[in-house]
Amino acid sequence: MTAQIINGKEIAEKKRLEIAKEVERLKELGVTPGLAVILVGNNHASRTYVNNKEKACKELGMNSLLIEMQEEVSEEELLAKINELNENPEIHGILVQLPLPKHIEEKKVIESISPSKDVDGFHPINIGRMMTGQDAFLPCTPYGIMVLLEETGISVAGKHVVVVGRSNIVGKPVGQLFLNQDATVTYCHSKTKDLRFHTNQADILIAAVGIPNFIKEEHVKDGAVIIDVGINRNENGKLCGDVAFDEVVEKAGFITPVPKGVGPMTITMLMYNTAKSAAWSLDRN
Ligand code: NAD
Repeated sequence: MTAQIINGKEIAEKKRLEIAKEVERLKELGVTPGLAVILVGNNHASRTYVNNKEKACKELGMNSLLIEMQEEVSEEELLAKINELNENPEIHGILVQLPLPKHIEEKKVIESISPSKDVDGFHPINIGRMMTGQDAFLPCTPYGIMVLLEETGISVAGKHVVVVGRSNIVGKPVGQLFLNQDATVTYCHSKTKDLRFHTNQADILIAAVGIPNFIKEEHVKDGAVIIDVGINRNENGKLCGDVAFDEVVEKAGFITPVPKGVGPMTITMLMYNTAKSAAWSLDRN
């Protein structure tokens, strides 16, 4: 059996058309969704991510505001800037690009963003709302994964989902979103014993580990749905995921490639959340 490829790029483009229409509607009502992105320091990868976010905003007709701060900026200054953006009615989403320099406490920064503008979905209030099944900003990568499955017509209820990885931005929240949709969820992580035993039971396997080609054919049940979140470079410097694609594709039922799988969905859901925040701001006025 050769797996069906889940084309994240195509699904992301379809979603972006829908978001662009929503942006047009909001503009007619007098609100242009605005996203503020704070970039601290000069991390090359962070700069690339931030540029892509700005580009996506422009393409969808949203406003974007890039705030660049020196590596040496104090925590106080950063928090003051976030506070200013919290108060700015033209800004509907605030995102602080991670990682931050060591002298700044990430947790403090995330918690200083108004939950109503936390379009990354990292604030404990949004996480709590997500856990209890309330309306919330959902974290973009996990949300993007759910949309990929929905758009591919893969049902979730009753399925056994095995998540490999338990980070706060991917592993933990994606498992929660599957649970919210009535899946049975198993989390695996660096201390899990006999990983293969668990992954072999997965109807849907999520790989969010950050190790190139970590999930092999032996980890996968025949016909399983494989979602590869990893963005890594292999020994030749080539972009690759956490799944050994060439061998797993022969056994799985569905698989996301890297690139053009989960990646394009992350920014798309960020745009979605920003438009949603702008729509909520209208409701509040
Ligand atoms: P992380 O480093 O925070 O977490 C990695 C997780 O893998 C940990 O929870 C750890 O317990 C687990 N792990 C490590 N070794 C393991 C092992 N031997 N067996 C089982 N589990 C093990 O990483 P993250 O931020 O969740 O990111 C994971 C990957 O996803 C990275 O490659 C990252 O670049 C990528 N990523 C992609 C997107 C996207 O938009 N596609 C977004 C975020 C992260």
